[in-house]
Order: sequence, then structure tokens, then C-alpha cells
Amino acid sequence: MSTRIKKVGVCGAGGTMGAGIAIVAARAGFETICYDLNPAQLEKSKRQMEGFFDKSVERGKLSVEDRDAAVARISLAAGLEDLGNCDLVIEAIFEDLAVKRELLCKLNAVCAEHTIFASNTSTLSITEIASGCGREDKVVGMHFCLPAQLMKLIEMSPGINTSTETFAQAWAFTKAAGQIPVKTQDKPGFILNALLVPFNNDIIRAVEAGVAEPADIDKAIKKGLGYKMGPCELLDLIGLDTQIRLSEAFYPITLDPRSSTPPLLRRMVAAGHLGRKSGRGFYTYGDKAMFGG
Ligand code: NAD
Repeated sequence: MSTRIKKVGVCGAGGTMGAGIAIVAARAGFETICYDLNPAQLEKSKRQMEGFFDKSVERGKLSVEDRDAAVARISLAAGLEDLGNCDLVIEAIFEDLAVKRELLCKLNAVCAEHTIFASNTSTLSITEIASGCGREDKVVGMHFCLPAQLMKLIEMSPGINTSTETFAQAWAFTKAAGQIPVKTQDKPGFILNALLVPFNNDIIRAVEAGVAEPADIDKAIKKGLGYKMGPCELLDLIGLDTQIRLSEAFYPITLDPRSSTPPLLRRMVAAGHLGRKSGRGFYTYGDKAMFGG
């Protein structure tokens, strides 16, 4: 199925995921309009997107003409109304059910009847996010991986009320954007986080118990299991504060003790060791850039 989607709105484009999602859409030829509650953050994010395209040219992955065309496809919205004629709006705003529901209700009031809403939520239910927005049949889960501009996988989940047509259109968009979709159920954590959140907490508990140094745990997992990245390296990339938020979202739903926050994780975050974003986590990064680095 080819996609009917031509214009894409990204809500929360000033944030980590939103900026990456905007890059994916613009790079693939979609007109991309970016919105964020925080205009200063949105401006900064636009510069980071341009910086990413510049680096892609330097690395020989994009021609100068393609970079210029991709950058020209990105515009900034002054308000939600500017997203009114989008075919698809992807939200990547804070992971908070009430905040996401409020946004979808507001979008429903300003968007064309055919506009599909996609949520990049990591832990919340698509059915609950859609509930009460006024177009529950046109809401779908579209979970990009960090960093969205580099990772191909998208977990696609229909909510209970999502129509077959909406799901098919959203699926076709991800393929046209050069991504690799997999279908999952509307369950907490979909595939990746449902497996990864408890696993990463196991790793932190292993460090805390003194099983091995983080670098040796990473070496064992990479050389023994063939993983590309060690779990401590991955935690530093995800952000240790994010791992706490994920654990806190999962534990009350699953009551799985492996999902509960390990004490070492809390101590590291209290010490400001958030991972790459703060320059220190399980490893020390100096001033190495997080975005596209
Ligand atoms: P972030 O805090 O970096 O960015 C969120 C952005 O949303 C901010 O710029 C904020 O100003 C903006 N925002 C908040 N409320 C808004 C509103 N009502 N309207 C418009 N903009 C608003 O967060 P993030 O890490 O990019 O995560 C965003 C979403 O993506 C969350 O749902 C998260 O669960 C999901 N996600 C995160 C990751 C990750 O590893 N960080 C991976 C996959 C999915």
C-alpha cells in the first residue's frame, strides 16, 4: 500500500525524540512542520537538525542538494493551529497520560477530519491516550527508537478503537519514511521496553552487587552474546533518569520486582550522573555531543 500522507506534524519537536522524528520525516521527502510548547527549545532543535544534516553530508551519506531539500521541508509552527492541514501528526511530548490526552483533544479541534494522530509513547496505553479525543479510530501507536534519526525500528500498535485503515496508512508511512515497522499489541512497553526495562535493572543490580565492573559486564555481553552495545553503554545513552521514569511507569502496572527502580540507579541520578546527556553515567564522556554524536 502506498501512503496518502504528504504533510507530517511533529509535536514536541524541541525534545530528543521529536527532533529525531522530524529528521526522519523530512529526510524521506515529507513536508514536516514542527511544534513545541517551548519555542526557544524548538529553535535550538531546528539548529540541531540542520547540524545533523550537515554531518550526514560530511560523512558522505547525503548530497548537498538532498540536505538543502530536507532542511527546506522543515518549518516551525507558531501554534497548534498550524498543524491543521497535516495528514499525520506524531506526538513526542512528555510521557504523561493527562498531558497527552489534552494535546489530542486540542489537535482534534484544529486538525482536518482525515488527520491521523500517532503517539510515540514508550509505556502508556494507546487506547487510553486516544480515549475521549473525538477521533479514537484515527489514533495509533508509533514508537520510534532512540536516536530516531539513526534507528530503523518502529513498534506499531493499534489501540482497541484504531481502524484498520488508520493502521494501514500509518504503517505505509513508516515504510515510505525508510523505517522498519513491527506490529505489537497495545501493552506496556510493547516489545522492546517490556524486555529491556527489567533487563537493564538486572544489570544495575549486578553492578550494585559487585558482580563485575560495568566495562566488564558490557564486554561480556558484547563478546559473549554478540550484542553491538553493552547494557551499561545503552543505559548511558537512554539516560539514567529516563530509566527511573520507565521503571516507575512499569512497576505499578506489572508488579514485577525486576521492574522496580534499583537503589544504585537513584543514587547515580541524585549525584547528577545521568549518562551521556550529563557527561557521566557508568562511563565518563567529557564534552562528547549527545545529539548525532
Ligand atoms: P523530551 O523531554 O526530550 O521532549 C519532550 C518535548 O515535548 C519538550 O521539548 C517539551 O517542551 C515538549 N512538550 C511537552 N508538552 C507539550 C505539549 N503539550 N505540546 C507541545 N510540546 C510539548 O522527551 P523525549 O525523551 O523526547 O520523549 C518524548 C516521548 O517519546 C515520550 O512519550 C517518551 O516516552 C517517548 N520516547 C522516548 C524515548 C527516549 O529514549 N527518550 C524513546 C522512545 C520514545
